[in-house]
Amino acid sequence: MPLFGRKRTREEPVITAEEFRLPEPPAPRPDGMRSVADHREYLLGCVEPLPPFGQQILDAVGLTLCEDVESPINLPRFDNSSMDGYAVRAQDVQYASVNTPVSLPVVGEVPAGAPAPHRLSPGTAMKIMTGAMLPEGADSVVPYEATDRGEQDVRISEACEPGRNVRRVGEDITEGELVLRAGERLASRSIGLLAGIGIDKVMVRPRPRVVVISTGNELTEPGFVLPGDQNIYDANSYMLAAAAKAAGAQVFRVGLVPDDPERLTQVISDQLVRADLILTTGGVSQGDYDIVKQVLPELGATDFTQVAMQPGKPQGFGLIGEDHTPIIMMPGNPVSAFVSFEAFVRPVLRKLAGLDSWVRRTVQCSAARGISSTPGKLQFARGVVSEAEDGSLVADLASGHGSHLLGGLAGANALLLLDEDTEFIAAGDRVDAWLLLED
Ligand code: AMP
Ligand code: MG
Repeated sequence: MPLFGRKRTREEPVITAEEFRLPEPPAPRPDGMRSVADHREYLLGCVEPLPPFGQQILDAVGLTLCEDVESPINLPRFDNSSMDGYAVRAQDVQYASVNTPVSLPVVGEVPAGAPAPHRLSPGTAMKIMTGAMLPEGADSVVPYEATDRGEQDVRISEACEPGRNVRRVGEDITEGELVLRAGERLASRSIGLLAGIGIDKVMVRPRPRVVVISTGNELTEPGFVLPGDQNIYDANSYMLAAAAKAAGAQVFRVGLVPDDPERLTQVISDQLVRADLILTTGGVSQGDYDIVKQVLPELGATDFTQVAMQPGKPQGFGLIGEDHTPIIMMPGNPVSAFVSFEAFVRPVLRKLAGLDSWVRRTVQCSAARGISSTPGKLQFARGVVSEAEDGSLVADLASGHGSHLLGGLAGANALLLLDEDTEFIAAGDRVDAWLLLED
C-alpha cells in the first residue's frame, strides 16, 4: 500500500506544550520561612552536573574528573637507582668499610634511558646513574660518596644491604590501581600523575558558565564619577563574579541593569545563550522597585521565598528560557549577596561542575567574645578565625551584623554560623564556622 494512501487507524495524539513547572518546593516552617538547608537542597535538586567532555590534561586543571582513572602501568616502571653510583650485589660488599674497602672491577655503565649492557656477574660493579634501570644480577647501589669513583676498579668503603638505593617497580603505583576518582577536581599534582602514567586526555566537566547581573537604578560602574549624591558603586556584580571565578566558574559579568522591567527582561533573555547559571542581585524584596521578582515569572518557572537566615532572607530561584537555565536571585545588600553566594550559589556551582562535595566543611572554633544572634534564623556573622597557641581555632567578629557592612565583610576570613536556637554565644563557647578559603 502506498505510504500516503494509508488509512489512519486511530486518532493522532495531540501534543500540547505542558507548562513547565519547578519541582514542589519544601513545605515552609510554621513561621512561614524555609530553612537554609531545605532551600539549598531544593536548589541542588533542581540542577544536574554539566555534560562531560574529553579534554587535554593541561587544559583540565581545575576541572572535575568524571571518570575513575586506573593506572595502565607500574610506577616506577622498573627497578632503578635512586643515586648516581655503582650497581653491585650487596653480598660482595657486606664487609666493606673505610678501613677495609672492597675493590671491584667496573664492567660497564648504565645511564638513565639505556638498558644495562649485560647481566652483572658476581664480584663486579657497574656504574649507574639516577633513574637508570638496575642491571639484572645487581640488588643494590653504592653511591659515589662511598667510593673512590674509580673507572677501571672501584674502591667501596661502605657496606650495604640488598635493596639499598633501589626504587622498586610498582612501589609508588601498581598497574591497574585506581589513582583518581570521578568527582575530584584536578590539581596540578593530579595532572602530573596523569602525565606520569601516560594519559594525555581525560573526561571532565566544563567550567560552569555564570552570568552575573546586578540591578538597581542607584548603581554606577566603578571607575566612573558618581552622577549624583544618591548614587553608589556596583559592588555586587564584581564580588559575585570574583567569587564564582574563585569557585571554578567561567564568568560573564554583565554588570548593572536599571530597575526597568523591559531592560531586565531583555538583558536576561540575551544572556541565556551563554549561561549555565545566572546570578542577579537586588530587586527581590518588598520594595516598589523590586522588579526582578515582578519580571522573572514571565521568563520561566520561579520560586520566591523567605529563607530563615540573616542576612539573605529574600531569595529567588528559577529555571528559565528554553533550556530551563537556573537563575539564583539574591538580595542587593552586599553582605546578603555574599552570604547567599556561600549558602546557595557555591553549592550549586559545585554540583554543576560535577564535584561530589557541595557544602563547605564546618570547623569548630571557640568564641573570642560574646556574640548575640537572632533566634529563629541561621545567622551568618562575619568572623575572623585564628589559631590559638594550642592549635585550636578562635573566632572573633569581624564587624557588626549589618548587611550593608562591606568593609567588615572584606575584613572577615570566615562566616560564623549561629543556628536558629541560639540567642547568645558566650566567650569561650563553641561556634561553627565556614573558612572562606577560595578554592
Ligand atoms: P535591594 O535588594 O535592591 O532592595 O537593595 C538593597 C540594598 O542593597 C540597597 O541599599 C541597595 O542600594 C544596595 N545594593 C543593591 N545592589 C547593590 C550593588 N550591586 N552594589 C552595592 N550595593 C547594592
Ligand atoms: Mg534595588
